Amino acid sequence: MRDMERGERIQEILDRMGLEGVIIFSPENIRYLTGFSGGEGYLLMRHGEGLLMVDARYITQAEDETSGCSLLLLEKGIRGVSSKLSSLGLKRVGFEAESISVTLFGKLQEGVEGVEWIPLTKELERLRGVKTAEEILWIQGAVNRAESALEKIVRMVKPGVREDELAIQLEYIMRQEGGEGVAFEIIVASGPRSALPHAQPTSRRLKEGDLVLFDFGSRYQGYNSDESCTFVLGRSTQEQKTVYHTVLEAHNRALDRVKRGVTLAEIDAAARKHISDAGHGEHFGHNTGHGVGLAVHEWPAVGKDSHDVVEEGMVFTIEPGIYIPRWGGVRIEDMVLVTSGGYEILTKIPKNLMEL
Ligand code: ZN
Repeated sequence: MRDMERGERIQEILDRMGLEGVIIFSPENIRYLTGFSGGEGYLLMRHGEGLLMVDARYITQAEDETSGCSLLLLEKGIRGVSSKLSSLGLKRVGFEAESISVTLFGKLQEGVEGVEWIPLTKELERLRGVKTAEEILWIQGAVNRAESALEKIVRMVKPGVREDELAIQLEYIMRQEGGEGVAFEIIVASGPRSALPHAQPTSRRLKEGDLVLFDFGSRYQGYNSDESCTFVLGRSTQEQKTVYHTVLEAHNRALDRVKRGVTLAEIDAAARKHISDAGHGEHFGHNTGHGVGLAVHEWPAVGKDSHDVVEEGMVFTIEPGIYIPRWGGVRIEDMVLVTSGGYEILTKIPKNLMEL
C-alpha cells in the first residue's frame, strides 16, 4: 500500500464494525489509499491490504502508480467485482455509500449472494482529514500556482472586460504555471452578480464601481486549492467599504479562534456573530469553511453543527461572506493549516480592500 498506516486506519473501522472488508469507490479515497490517480476503479480493503480492480483503460496506469496493492483486471465491469467477492466468500462487507449510484449498487448486489452490505458514510469521512507533511506541500503547490496566476489576471481587471474572459485567462495561466487543472469551475462575478455565492462567469462586462469577486483554485499532485478575493473596480463607495470591512473582520475573528482543541462550530460562530451583529445575518447563508485536500470540499465542515474538534494537520478554508441580493457581495477566503501552536495561512494574497 501507499502508506501502511492508512490501510491500518481502514482496518480499525472494519474491526469496530465487524466487517470482513469494505469497497471504496471514490477516486479520492482510492488515490489516498493506493496512489492510483485514475478516474474509475473499485478498491476492496481487507486486513489493511488493498485489491484494486480496474478495467483495461486503467490497468497500465494502476500497475505504474501503485505498490504493495494487488491488482485485478476487470473484463465485465462491476460484474467482475461481484464475482471476485463471491470467490472470496465474504459475508459482511461495508461499502462507501456516498460514492456509488443506486443503479450500480444494485448490479453489485445482484452478482453476489449471501452478503450483508453495510453502508459506510461518517465512518470514512475523517480518513483524509489530517494531512501529512507531503500532502501539505502539494496543497501549498496548488495554492502557489493559483495565486501567481491571479496576480497576472488582476492587471486585466478593467472596465469593459467580460467575466468569462477573466475566468478563461485565469484557468489558462494556472495551467501554464504548472497546475493540473482547475479545482472547480472558476467564479468571476461582478456588480450585482457578486451577490450570487456560486455565480458562473457570464458575458457581463465589468463597470467602474463594480465589486468583482473571484473564487478559484488550482490542482497539484491531485491536491486542490481554494481562495476567494473581492476587489472594487475604481473607487469604493462607503457602503462597499462597510460591507467589505465587516466580512474582513468576521474572517479575522474566525482565524483568531483557529487552534487545536476548539470545535469547528466555535470558529464558525466567531464569524457568524460578527456578521449578524452588523445586521447582515440573513446575508450569510453558507458555512464559514470546509476541508480541502484531494477533494475541494471535504471533511471537516466549519459550520454551526460541526462539533468536531480542530486537530493539528487539518487544512480548511475560512470564507465568510455577505451577499445582498441585487446589490452585490463580498467573500474573503483563505486556506489555513492547523499547526501545533495555532495556524498558518497557506494563501498569501493580502486581504485588505483593493481598488483596481
Ligand atoms: Zn471554499
